[in-house]
Amino acid sequence: MSALLGRILLTVPVLRAQGLEPADDPFDTLARLPIVTKQQIRDDYRGHFAEDIDPSDCASVVTSGTTGVPLKIVHNSEHFVHVNALALRRAFDYGLPLDRKMLRPFKSESDDWFEYTLPSAGFLRFAEFGFVTDEAEIARRCREFAPDAVFTHPSRALALRDMVPGLRPRIVQTFGEQLTDGGRAAIEEHFQAPVRDCYGTNEAGTIAAQCPEFGSYHIEGERLCVEIVDADGRPLPDGAEGDIVVTNMFNTVMPFVRYNTGDVGALSSGRCPCGRDQKVLRLIAGRQYGAITLPDGTRIDVLRLVKQLDRFPLERLQVVQADTTELTVLVVPAAGCTDDDLRRATDAANAALHHRLPVRLRRAAAEEFAESSAGKHLNFVNLLEN
Ligand SMILES: [Zn+2]
Repeated sequence: MSALLGRILLTVPVLRAQGLEPADDPFDTLARLPIVTKQQIRDDYRGHFAEDIDPSDCASVVTSGTTGVPLKIVHNSEHFVHVNALALRRAFDYGLPLDRKMLRPFKSESDDWFEYTLPSAGFLRFAEFGFVTDEAEIARRCREFAPDAVFTHPSRALALRDMVPGLRPRIVQTFGEQLTDGGRAAIEEHFQAPVRDCYGTNEAGTIAAQCPEFGSYHIEGERLCVEIVDADGRPLPDGAEGDIVVTNMFNTVMPFVRYNTGDVGALSSGRCPCGRDQKVLRLIAGRQYGAITLPDGTRIDVLRLVKQLDRFPLERLQVVQADTTELTVLVVPAAGCTDDDLRRATDAANAALHHRLPVRLRRAAAEEFAESSAGKHLNFVNLLEN
């Protein structure tokens, strides 16, 4: 943290403008810097880059944000070194070999089938496919590849299950969407393998990943500082819920310092029983899903409804608002979900909205679910606004 701040307080215009003298304790210095949002970075894009940037040491990625203007993120090689090192250690923790074979199904950037080796990730072998023209052929290649791990969004793991029954990886690693209990159970049941989920952002990389023994989400504190803050940006004590704010200690070219992820969570006050040093993050709301509009014009956070429905055995759900007379929730019931479960889920959904807008659950086929332009599952489709 000292090395990071000692450098970027001089080289990054928006930070230099703060006029801070580094304190003896770098975390005191950090606490005096303002929280920054994605919108603020967009508004002064160049001001957030170091002036001594070396383009040959950088790689960029565009965030897939479900709303608004995408943001191009630039990382230096130092960032990737640490990201890869922790991914390797995680592979060891999960009992996977260095030369593991990983399948990335339905990757939106690629066409039929593509394999490559990544030396920086321990000579692992990736196989991925995107747009599927021949399901039988892709299913055959998946079986032949025999992945050690499936690495994908929860919704894509379920789609893979439907297309390639009987695939038996040792583990399913999920990311990119908030994993529901029903989704986790359905994936584990089908693949007969444990699900290990992680939470992260394009801006910071993996922020927290599941403990191999206890399932809690350990933060990557070796390379990130994670803070929880209130609506005014004041740090909250462990246990309290608030905005998740991260500082990447290794990206000196486009530093994300006290960056508000837009996600909501809490750092647990107790240690994980596994004995690992890193604190445990409890994710409350992984994504800002938007708001449901009631007939009188008031708005209710859609997560209020989603969280009620998450308690029922549903593999997948999507709230769709087309008008203000009725709300539809598309659902794929999990195995063992009864008609009574669906009735109780409907009651809970209506209660979540205080019976001010009728909610109807409808069984839907996979292809009826709308996806974001990046191919991510959406929990909410708002046809009133978009
Ligand atoms: Zn643990």
